[in-house]
Amino acid sequence: MSIRPLGALHQTGVPTISEGWLAGARRVPSPNCDARPPQQAARLLVIHGISLPPGEYGGPWIDALFTNRLDPQAHPYFAEIHQLRVSSHLLIRRTGEVVQYVPFDRRAWHAGASAYQGCACCNDFSIGIELEGTDAEPYEAVQYQRLAECVAALLAAYPELSPERIAGHSDIAPGRKSDPGPHFDWHHFHYLLQGQWLAKHQTSIDT
Ligand SMILES: [Zn+2]
Repeated sequence: MSIRPLGALHQTGVPTISEGWLAGARRVPSPNCDARPPQQAARLLVIHGISLPPGEYGGPWIDALFTNRLDPQAHPYFAEIHQLRVSSHLLIRRTGEVVQYVPFDRRAWHAGASAYQGCACCNDFSIGIELEGTDAEPYEAVQYQRLAECVAALLAAYPELSPERIAGHSDIAPGRKSDPGPHFDWHHFHYLLQGQWLAKHQTSIDT
């Protein structure tokens, strides 16, 4: 089965980024963001898992949470979380749809209390990517493909990012957060990401 690539592609299959927005992503601007602190550019990618209600897929609730429009009466869990002011830069749904809430040069509110290699407040210097899913089951093949495409685009656009600086939320908030969970296949993701890089490198040699 071939997976159709995201729109507006480079020849390599890597989507373009302009003015902080990813081509081909559905844009749902979130108010839950602000400027990064001075001297802080994105140098870390954080992978998350999310589903609303927990364990259910496909509803409008993640968009609603990230835009402060979650109906507290629509589900008991929503009554607990509807006042959270949170966001991420990207969401990759089970279908492979990519949604962007915050431009990459602004600070999204995805990591909470966190630290990476001795630096606290990871929101200051990271880009957050949510995968629609739970700790309890594998992510979809199309989500890995989209993730590799999006990360390859980000690596090309933001020179302080690196394939070595990609963490799970559970890595930067251990004991507090468990996402993207034990089923997230880091080896498979890095294999696909390497393929994106090789394709891009090959193209640059050829042209
Ligand atoms: Zn998370």
